[in-house]
Amino acid sequence: MNFSKRTVTCGALRAADVGKTVILNGWVHRDRNHGALHFINLRDRYGITQVVVDDNASEELQKTAAQLKMEYCIAVTGLVRKRPDNMINKDMATGEVEVEAQKIEILSKCETLPFMIDEENSANEDLRLKYRFLDLRTGGMQKRIRLRHEFIKAIRDFLCDREFYEIETPTLIRSTPEGARDFLVPSRKYAGKFYALPQSPQLYKQLLMVSGFDKYFQIARCYRDEDARGDRQLEFTQLDLEMSFVQRDDVLGLMEDLFGYVFKRVMNYELPAHFRRIDYFDAMNTYGCDKPDLRFGCEIKDLAPVVEKSSFEAYRQILADKGFVKAVVAPATKGFDFTRKYLDSLSEAAKVYGAAFVPFVKVGENNTISGSAAKYFAGLEEELCTYMGAKNGDVILMVAHNSWKKCCASAGALRSKLGKDLGLIQPGFAFCWIVDFPLFEYNEDEGHWEAAHHMFSMPQARYIDTLEQNPGEVRGDLYDMVVNGYECASGSIRIHDVELQKRIFRICNFSDEEAEKKFGFLLNAFKFGPPPHGGIAPGIDRMVMIMSEQSSIKEAIAFPKNSFAVSPMDDCPNDVDAKQLEELHLAIKYPENK
Ligand code: ASP
Repeated sequence: MNFSKRTVTCGALRAADVGKTVILNGWVHRDRNHGALHFINLRDRYGITQVVVDDNASEELQKTAAQLKMEYCIAVTGLVRKRPDNMINKDMATGEVEVEAQKIEILSKCETLPFMIDEENSANEDLRLKYRFLDLRTGGMQKRIRLRHEFIKAIRDFLCDREFYEIETPTLIRSTPEGARDFLVPSRKYAGKFYALPQSPQLYKQLLMVSGFDKYFQIARCYRDEDARGDRQLEFTQLDLEMSFVQRDDVLGLMEDLFGYVFKRVMNYELPAHFRRIDYFDAMNTYGCDKPDLRFGCEIKDLAPVVEKSSFEAYRQILADKGFVKAVVAPATKGFDFTRKYLDSLSEAAKVYGAAFVPFVKVGENNTISGSAAKYFAGLEEELCTYMGAKNGDVILMVAHNSWKKCCASAGALRSKLGKDLGLIQPGFAFCWIVDFPLFEYNEDEGHWEAAHHMFSMPQARYIDTLEQNPGEVRGDLYDMVVNGYECASGSIRIHDVELQKRIFRICNFSDEEAEKKFGFLLNAFKFGPPPHGGIAPGIDRMVMIMSEQSSIKEAIAFPKNSFAVSPMDDCPNDVDAKQLEELHLAIKYPENK
């Protein structure tokens, strides 16, 4: 096809270009018509330029201009001219100029749009995803896709500068238990055999360390066949990274440097040189979760010392049964009333995590207290208020549970809700490290221990001799990077010793034979001089979501699935031909209710 190819983009023209003849290619963003005078906002990914078809333009040009509709793809040849002073648009990078059209070619037409191509698209999610190619034209998506590109580019530049190699690992691998469920790919050549898609390149990056590629990274696609839960996608992208001859602080330090560099370059945002390191148990006790939002305070306190002296029998009983009592202060906030209804909503938030109810006291002048729990603290008013650091107008909220985790989580739910509802959250990015996680978690359903992160993580040295005695006590050389309440990276120092690796497998209920069958290749590699190594993997989608202040990773991915793991655009997953199934030696057994 012959057409006038652009000489400039729609974001390029400035006052200095006045007098030049240019060609623009782009989409009709808006088309305003004042009789024979047309104003066309022409858009491409670089910006918007105003094109004018004057009322004295040729008849042919007028005719073409009259045919234009939104999102037509056109080529405009014209003369750059200065806008009249009263028409200058300071909000537009090209706002000082306009292009007086001499020729317009319609390159393709556009049907009636399912939604407007605006800064943000307010259409429902499925419509956005069905027409994702149009949704991606909106200003918000364009910005986020660009941010994602710049983010990844900055990561690559930084790591390559630090002598990391970017190495691809396979996407068709053997199925190995790594925490989630594998996606399987049936083999055509070998009937009854399957490849799996990697949940992460974990084992390959460890093998690369054995091979001597001591600084590795990859922008890696990971696949986990999990039920739609919250904001998950079946496939996601992570910066996968591994280093040899390192200890925990080397990995954390590298990540601090990397994120410092990337945030400065991409967001012009200065991060601290070091991120706070918080012990897992401290994080749970103080923030009620292992991914705390540090943009606000409202720290949780252990209320046991005060409750023990009180007449709060129900809570004293929980303490006597070795349970836990925690409290949070809702600070007096201008324009915010702690009404009964609001306090009930807090209670509901905590109940989801196990608290049976949320007793409270309202603090008045001179440490006077009122509210549902006030009577139990008669004579202890001052001690309670001082202990909690609560002042006039504040409300002290309490939760209790026999389970430490549930007590923490209930208090954490209160803290999170208060942070949002009271507007306590400061702008910006608050990074921290959560370190020293327990290595194992007990799987109640299956009745055995399993790895809290994955089975390749190193127990801390002081536990190694006695791992089997009390797996619940063992802390691992594990770390998570957290920002604004999101876990955005997990990693660990790895095991590189065959015997230790086998012991971990055994604790996680893998017999030696089973471990050999499933992980034999790793155990084999560890017989050939493996170096000490460790790594981490920050989620790219999630980071871009956070950087662009969105609340769903779908906003950071060009073509995501919807919340039901379906793509409304290409209708995937879909049926396949009987012939394809036959070639793969597969027969479908439909569930009863289909
Ligand atoms: N492979 C791990 C994951 O995807 C991250 C790591 O330990 O490096 O969660």
